[in-house]
Amino acid sequence: MHIALIAHDNKKDALVNFVLAYEDIFKGHTLYATGTTGSRIMAATSLLIERVQSGPLGGDQQIGARIAEDKMDLVIFIRDPLTAQPHDPDIAALLRLCDVHNVPVATNLATAEAIIRAMDHGDLNWRYVVHPDASKEEKRTRK
Ligand code: PGA
Repeated sequence: MHIALIAHDNKKDALVNFVLAYEDIFKGHTLYATGTTGSRIMAATSLLIERVQSGPLGGDQQIGARIAEDKMDLVIFIRDPLTAQPHDPDIAALLRLCDVHNVPVATNLATAEAIIRAMDHGDLNWRYVVHPDASKEEKRTRK
């Protein structure tokens, strides 16, 4: 699976600890992250992550573009609900695209944990229920 990891500044420690706790599961997948989140996770784990721009500089839009291309299977976006962000419109757009393309998105760690455990058990077939004609590989190689 292709998984995007994003955390706002006040939530970065929490996401790093979460990824560390589930590193064995994450290492079997292809990971993407916004700039600072990706650096923090790579410094704390042995995971390789493809980093895009920092969120305020367009990273959320880059992740959104991959969702629009059906190249992302899961988004873990641990938002700070108590702090206004300069790129709030980009965040709203990213969450909207997850709904448009039926990509599971966790915005808090409790949901992230439920999804990661279900994924590890092979229980995540949601996308292919909604897109029954699309196999994972077909979708990934489609131009
Ligand atoms: P960052 O971006 O990982 O570069 O901090 C995340 C965000 O604030 O959207």
